[in-house]
Parts: sequence; structure tokens; C-alpha cells
Amino acid sequence: MEIRKIVLIHPGREGRIFGKATAVPYTLMRLASLVPDDIEVEVWDENWEYLDNKIRTLGKHDLVGITSKTLAIETAERYARIAHESGVQTVVVGGAHATLLPEDVARWADVVVTGEAYYTWPQIIKDFQNDTLKPHYNDTEWADLTGVAPLTDRVIAQVDEKRRYWTPLIEITRGCPRNCSFCTAIRVSGQKMRFRPVEEVVEEIERRRIDRFFLTDDNFGLAFAIDPDYTEKLFLALAKLPLRGWTTQAEMMVAKYPELLKLAKRAHLDKFFIGFESVNPENRRELGGKSKGMMKQYQEAIDAIHQHGLGVVGLFVFGFDADTPKVMWDTWEFAKNSGLDSMSATILTPYPGTPFREQLVQENRLIPGKSWRYYDTAHVTYYPRQMTVEEFEREYDRVCRAIYHPFRIAQRGLRALSRHPIPRMPAKVFGSFSTDYGYRRTFAWRHAFSS
Ligand code: SF4
Repeated sequence: MEIRKIVLIHPGREGRIFGKATAVPYTLMRLASLVPDDIEVEVWDENWEYLDNKIRTLGKHDLVGITSKTLAIETAERYARIAHESGVQTVVVGGAHATLLPEDVARWADVVVTGEAYYTWPQIIKDFQNDTLKPHYNDTEWADLTGVAPLTDRVIAQVDEKRRYWTPLIEITRGCPRNCSFCTAIRVSGQKMRFRPVEEVVEEIERRRIDRFFLTDDNFGLAFAIDPDYTEKLFLALAKLPLRGWTTQAEMMVAKYPELLKLAKRAHLDKFFIGFESVNPENRRELGGKSKGMMKQYQEAIDAIHQHGLGVVGLFVFGFDADTPKVMWDTWEFAKNSGLDSMSATILTPYPGTPFREQLVQENRLIPGKSWRYYDTAHVTYYPRQMTVEEFEREYDRVCRAIYHPFRIAQRGLRALSRHPIPRMPAKVFGSFSTDYGYRRTFAWRHAFSS
């Protein structure tokens, strides 16, 4: 069939904050860049604009792709329905939820894509043109990241990220060899850590003209241990760029690499988002080996990273089987005294495809009737082992009100700001407060709809 246009849709519920959407739909930008030059392609993001009416302008000769986060999957389904009603014949759905639970998506999508799609997406476009589409495409290999889907200038221009988005995203590594029981990332990106060539990373930053960014990497910090030479080369290259700052997810063992931390600072790294996850050592089995619930070790890592002028955002999850309400308050006590620059406190969520969910299914502990929109790390979706659902929710609300009180956000933000030399401070104000503000918004979803 002849293609008129390809539209890639990102369903999202965050919307705009102070006139801009939060993070660019980076994966869709990469997939849009694989579309041959002679076919029109657009990326549509619900966080930027209302999409229902735009979707109604599509028709038979348009190929529609929708990405699928679990919490937004019901919106994705609604978009597919609107597209079909408008005459679209082919709605392709890929992304995390489609990969983790393809049968759920196959109920309403014409084509389900599992895996990373960098190899299958070009094939889908060809098959659409040749009327040979199959209902399921599976990307069976973890793509070597060399030369994979570089962003094209037309996609960069079409998405207009400087005007529309607060946070540019970029990928440097993918995959994580850890095995946390609740993690979806490794079930989507694999456990082999893969690296983009440094030259490609630098070229992309320069061509997009971005001067700050957040990495999409699952656990960039492991690059310190797995390939220190690569990490050093990367930092030396980034140090030469006129960057205002960048941030990434990591794990606390980066603290054991003082030389690389020194280089990271020179490379304009602002802060690490570190998944400590729990302050309860009895949960260590679930934490995949990256942390052991030991507060003393956490403190040593935070102090070591701070000594290099780098910030630490602490990520914590509540609701493991050994957790009681006390864990939430122990976490808050630790965080208050630890000097963390920001903190995230979320509710453990049994995403599809994870060992944690399998365990809950076997033990009949999923709360019936919880639709996927509750899978947002701010709602309780299962029966905890050591507390009632009501207890869990009540104490979570109380502790989050303490954590995200404006005074505490200001306190942590000022602390983060003080890590920068005075001449750099004006450029760092936004980043020093925006992380906690974002987490406060995530928490606010607890009360956006009833649980
Ligand atoms: S360390 Fe992070 S990315 Fe790796 S398995 Fe654990 S949660 Fe997933």
C-alpha cells in the first residue's frame, strides 16, 4: 500500500509544566529517523498537545505507530480506536508494555512489536508498502549500538525540542547486568551492557545543539566498572564541549572510582540518580546485588561523590516483603541527615514480565480491578506482606508530605546549588530544584484519581 505519512505517537499524562513538556520522546525520534527520506514522518506527543483531533485527520494510507508505557497503555488503546474509526488500517504498537505483555496489546493493535525495534521497524515500513504485514515482529538481537538509528536533521527540526521540551534525552549505554526483581528495564533492554561510540555521542550533542541532557541509560554507573577505558574516553570528550550540565542514573559503586569521578566533574556531570532502593537489609535479595540495604555504605558513597563536587539524588522504593511502615520513616530519617540533593520515594510496582509480579500472581496478591493507569509507582496495586493496603497508603502519604514539603525541597535545592562555584550558580538554579519538584508531581498522582 502506498504510504501518505507515518505518525509516531507518544501517549503521556504529564502535560506541560510552565509552557513546555518535560522530556523529549527520544525513542520515537530515533525510530522516526529510520524512516526513508521520501516518506513523510511526524512524532506526536500527548505531553505537548491534545491529540484526539489530530488523529482524526489520519486515514487509510497513514501508518500509525504508538509506544506503550504500562501506565499509559489504556490511552494508547484509545488512540488506536480513534485511528481505526478514522480509517487507519494499521496501528503498530511497540515499547515496554508491548514487549513485556504482547498478548495484552495484541487484543487491539494490528501489529505488535516486541524488543528494541531498530531492526524490525524498517521491515514493517517495507511490509506495509508491500501488503505483507505480519501481526507480530520480534527484535531478537540486542542491537550493537554502533551506528544505530542516528537522529536525522528533519526529525530534530520537526520535534523542535528547544522550544517544546525542558529536558533533552540522549543515550550513551543500554542494558544492565544486575537482576533486580522488580526491574522492567533489563527485560526490555537486556542484561548485556552496550556502549555507543563516543564519537557518535559527541556528534549527536553538537548537531542537536543541546547543552544539558539526561541519559536514558538504565544504569550508566556500571560503565565505571565494566569499561573504565571507555568511560574515561567519554568524559575527556565531553569535557571539551560547552555543556551546562548533565545527569544520569547510576549505582553507588561509582563512589569507588575517584579518578573517574574527577573526570566526570570535568565532563560537566552534575549529579547521579542512585537507586539505593531500600534501607532495610532484609530486602537485599530483591536488589540484584547493587545495594544491600546498608545505610552506612550509602552514606560513605554519598560523601565520596559529594567530595568531588557531584550531587546525589537518592531513589528509594517502599513495599518489599520485609517492609513495615517503619521502613518509610527510617528512610526519611536517613535521607534528612545524609546530605542528599534530592530524593524520590516510590511504591513498589509489579510491572508485567518481572519476577516480582510472578511471585504475586502465584501468591494471589494482586489487588483485583487495578487498571494499568495505577501502575505509576504512586499507587498500591498488590497486598503487601507486612502491612495492610490502607496502612501502606496512609504512611506513604504522610512520609511523602514530609519529604516533598516545600521547605524540604528548598533546603535540598539550596544544598545542591551550593555545590557549584558562585559564577556557575545562575545556570544551576533550575536543575537544583526541578528534580524534587518533578518527584512531588509524581507523588501528587496518588490523589489525582482514587485508589
Ligand atoms: S540496577 Fe537498575 S537497571 Fe539494573 S536491574 Fe537493577 S533496577 Fe534494573
